Amino acid sequence: MRRLPIPKCLACESATTTFWFEKSNDHGRYPISRCKSCGSAWVYPRPSEDAIRQFYEKYNRHPVDLSIDALFGRVLQQERDYPNSTIDAQRMVARCRTLTRGGKFLDVGAGYGFSSRAALDAGFEVTALEPSSVSRAIIKKLTDLTAEPNMLTDAFVQAHPGGFDAILLSQVLEHMLDVQAVIDQLGSMLAQGGILCLAVPHFGSTISRVQGKRDMFISPPEHVNFFTRAGLEKLLTGRGFAIAQTDTVSRVDVDRKLARLPVRRVRDAAARAANAMFSAMDATKTGMFLNVYARRA
Ligand SMILES: [Zn+2]
Repeated sequence: MRRLPIPKCLACESATTTFWFEKSNDHGRYPISRCKSCGSAWVYPRPSEDAIRQFYEKYNRHPVDLSIDALFGRVLQQERDYPNSTIDAQRMVARCRTLTRGGKFLDVGAGYGFSSRAALDAGFEVTALEPSSVSRAIIKKLTDLTAEPNMLTDAFVQAHPGGFDAILLSQVLEHMLDVQAVIDQLGSMLAQGGILCLAVPHFGSTISRVQGKRDMFISPPEHVNFFTRAGLEKLLTGRGFAIAQTDTVSRVDVDRKLARLPVRRVRDAAARAANAMFSAMDATKTGMFLNVYARRA
């Protein structure tokens, strides 16, 4: 099969792009391209918007046998047992709080609302965007916010020029087809000096480098973009942002993963070793998730 010429890197816009491999999974076969300059990768040709919509309609269903109250109970219980979403949300919101004085916060793809809740707790006035009606019902219960029922529509973007002081996309950008247009839309909605916080799986992490083509985050058509730190930073600086801070965060439910080890002493030692490894990776910014904070210049 003749392959389409691969366009410039969608992250850093370098022309040194090349076909990498074809990812096959239950949903289809997806050619993956990679940039020799920044190391980022992406699905190309891009799936159509229709194909993506059909995928989420089919596979991204919430448990149908649960009422909203029962699902809310389950969400709260999971978060009490393994409070990763709360910890992540509080950390990112706290960083936004130190980087901007303004009070208007936009949570794009708010999920169950943990980031919105953290932003409310930090004193922000919060607007949440969430396409899933079930998730919006959970957000309402968690925060009393009424989330807007979409992602970034042109109408919403045009109605909010310079309207926000902080915008958060947590585990969202890796799903989006036109990342350059999205960054421009977000820039247009930020006030002068406002802060954009992007959290994505880190394609340049130590674990990703070891796994290569088997990286668990290469999961099209759900994930269609795989960003390195250089790639994500250049995507932003190339579109009028200045990088304020970049962190990596490694979070694995170590205790849950190790719960099968029968001897407590062994379990504790393994947990200490794993946590020490994650700390070392994050100290060198080679951890599992990339958090980039960028200021609208
Ligand atoms: Zn690149």
